[in-house]
Amino acid sequence: MKRYDVLVIGGGIAGVSLGYELAADRSVGLVEMESTLAFHTTGRSAATFLESYGGRVIRLLTTASRAFMENPPEEFVRPLLSPMPLLWIAPHGGADELRSMRDEVIEFVPDVSLLSPSEAATFSPVIREEWLELAMLEPGASEIDVAAVHSGFVAGLRNRGGDIHTSSGVVQLQFVSNVWRATTRSGDVIEAPIVVNAAGAWCDDIARIAGVEPVGIHPLRRTVFMVSGPGDSGTRTDNSTDNRGLPLVADVRGTFYIKPEGAQYLCSPADETPSVPCDAQPEEIDIAQAIEHINDATTLDIRHVRSSWAGLRSFVGDRSPVVGFDDHADGFFWFVGQGGYGIQISPALARVGAALIRYGEIPAELRAHGLEAEHLGRGRLVGITGIQGH
Ligand SMILES: Cc1cc2nc3c(=O)[nH]c(=O)nc-3n(C[C@H](O)[C@H](O)[C@H](O)COP(=O)(O)OP(=O)(O)OC[C@H]3O[C@@H](n4cnc5c(N)ncnc54)[C@H](O)[C@@H]3O)c2cc1C
Repeated sequence: MKRYDVLVIGGGIAGVSLGYELAADRSVGLVEMESTLAFHTTGRSAATFLESYGGRVIRLLTTASRAFMENPPEEFVRPLLSPMPLLWIAPHGGADELRSMRDEVIEFVPDVSLLSPSEAATFSPVIREEWLELAMLEPGASEIDVAAVHSGFVAGLRNRGGDIHTSSGVVQLQFVSNVWRATTRSGDVIEAPIVVNAAGAWCDDIARIAGVEPVGIHPLRRTVFMVSGPGDSGTRTDNSTDNRGLPLVADVRGTFYIKPEGAQYLCSPADETPSVPCDAQPEEIDIAQAIEHINDATTLDIRHVRSSWAGLRSFVGDRSPVVGFDDHADGFFWFVGQGGYGIQISPALARVGAALIRYGEIPAELRAHGLEAEHLGRGRLVGITGIQGH
């Protein structure tokens, strides 16, 4: 039997980032059910850092993560961020939505600007000028090296003395004499007074086996596929057309986004199909719909998909994460609901989680921006049914 101060369940970005923070002054054990870490949502993201994305809490956490991303500790291979501007585009009839978005995000991203269709076309050569009514540029958006962020947290967690156990799915969780006792599928037993639920789409399954009320997580499938960009010869090794400097382009109504990757484009229907927790797989219908939208709005003229994958973005009703001790289960800490933003907010959210565990308080620098424990605690979800729109 092993014993730690804190047992973290889940080896995605959530578990390793919080484990890293806590290992500074506590013994930490992390268990992951798969044989490799980051096998599920974390390994399937679109790898972007967008400060205009998500609701107010997300924007605040993203902005607060920038300094860490730009200047990470020594365990992290640099750079974690590479510049890639973001161009939100609105079709005819959608300009008001973009204007209200600009009004909301300007507090956190003061350098966003609205662009006419012809101005927007100078940033992205593939958009059809006649398709749009208005665009908004976020010049400081970036691409994230997700593997470097995740493996940096893993290296730091280990350097600080933390243990990582893969192929260790927790199947039983009991609170005995003020200590959580986790039993893994292979029969190993691990104990800790604090257990962190960072199990992503599976977080309510973990709650159920612990006898804790689930938070009502909604795992939503999102599809991604790769296509050739203009000038891509179609051979995997040919990278002669370099898309550096080109923006990520996203429809403000959430029907698609396209992200330049070397000579190719990563595309997504921005779909949100409810799913059970699972190894998510792409569906042809979602890809076909995205191709229709993208071919309408751009000159990519997609006829062939090179590869595709899908992952689960897990949200609670108001689309902000749930972080904090459960009110009715001693030592049971929620660190879930990172939705579509878990990579970009990981440095700040891990600091928040660690401060709540250590002191029961949000770090001062985030409180100064108006973030309170109630914004993240599960208590706020009382009365919210279903899930809010994008
Ligand atoms: C297509 C797509 C695009 C995205 N794009 C972006 C983006 O551009 N930027 C961004 O910031 N975010 C993005 N995201 C969101 C981001 O990937 C997630 O928010 C983040 O990865 C969630 O991390 P997690 O650790 O909570 O979940 P996961 O990575 O799923 O980790 C949870 C882990 O818990 C483990 N687990 C479950 N049950 C048990 C158990 N019983 N015992 C032990 N282990 C268990 C699972 O095996 C899993 O490894 C995207 C997501 C998708 C799907």
